[in-house]
Amino acid sequence: MRINTISGLKDLLLQAKKVTIIGHKNPDGDALGSTLGLSLFLSKLGVSSTVMMPNSFPDFLKWLPQAETVLCYDENTSTCEKELYQSDLIFTLDFNDLSRTGDLGLFLEQLEVPFAMIDHHQEPSTYAEFMLVDTQIASTCELVYEFITTEFQNTDLTEDISSCLYTGIMTDTGSFRFPSTTSKTHRIVANLMDAGAKGSLIHQNTFDNNSISRLQLLSKALDNLKVIPDLKTAYIYLSQEDLNRNHFKKGDTEGFVNYALSLKGIRFAVIFIENAAEKIVKISFRSVGDFDVNTFARSHYQGGGHKNAAGGKSDLDLSATLSEFEHLINHYKNQLQ
Ligand code: 5GP
Ligand code: MN
Repeated sequence: MRINTISGLKDLLLQAKKVTIIGHKNPDGDALGSTLGLSLFLSKLGVSSTVMMPNSFPDFLKWLPQAETVLCYDENTSTCEKELYQSDLIFTLDFNDLSRTGDLGLFLEQLEVPFAMIDHHQEPSTYAEFMLVDTQIASTCELVYEFITTEFQNTDLTEDISSCLYTGIMTDTGSFRFPSTTSKTHRIVANLMDAGAKGSLIHQNTFDNNSISRLQLLSKALDNLKVIPDLKTAYIYLSQEDLNRNHFKKGDTEGFVNYALSLKGIRFAVIFIENAAEKIVKISFRSVGDFDVNTFARSHYQGGGHKNAAGGKSDLDLSATLSEFEHLINHYKNQLQ
């Protein structure tokens, strides 16, 4: 599905005095890469913008150009609200509904400012006057690239802009290996490299900075791996105690679910992570092939995402969440076998 209602956005943007660019809660590489990349491009045009996130982001993304300028709503609420009141245009990137920004979303809902959504998630909400949405595309960064190069006929990207966009494409495609990766993705990536993005360095900066405690947490996660061969399903769980014992830091569990998915014959993989402070279990779903985890997460776990990668949460405790899940998937036998 593709929506393009951005006619008039360029003019509004060029007249804007203050623009805010927002990503989703628990920002990932695509949320940060797309927001920072767009912000850097706008400053090249002479348009001043602020990048804002609902909460902080993992250390492995802190090397990104201008990452230190990102404002986090949960830590700087009044500064963020002041910025938003003064904004004459708000971009929302890499999410499809204001609820994906937590408490910040409640504040955004009551603003009377034009919104521009650039996103690739299924079933977008309709709060934005301007939309550039393509649910087939692997990453929001590819859409930001399209926005820059087609709306502004600007192919003269800086190394910093290219590095930001490369990062989001790299993380959302699992380093260019998920089925959403197309020849067009590779062409964009090639252009970004020509413009200065250093692919190998970006991989190193993002992935080769493990702490010992993260690897120990991974070891615990693999210990807690359960396979249900009949349903081609595997899941991992981490309790709050597992996290505490291994000095959990934000971002440490990124990618763990892919180990479950890498098992031979497994089509559906899940990770359950207890969050005692929020009294929830945060869940990531992954699939290969036809099993639609977006629908599964929407139907049962107050979540959503993409067909093969989605997230959600459970309000039950960890052990009840796991029992409920094991029960639930029996109803999906036909789709999973
Ligand atoms: P992850 O499992 O890596 O956190 O997220 C996978 C995909 O699902 C991402 O595209 C992310 O934006 C989306 N996602 C994660 N958690 C949620 C959620 O609670 N609600 C919705 N609607 N989407 C989510
Ligand atoms: Mn994304």
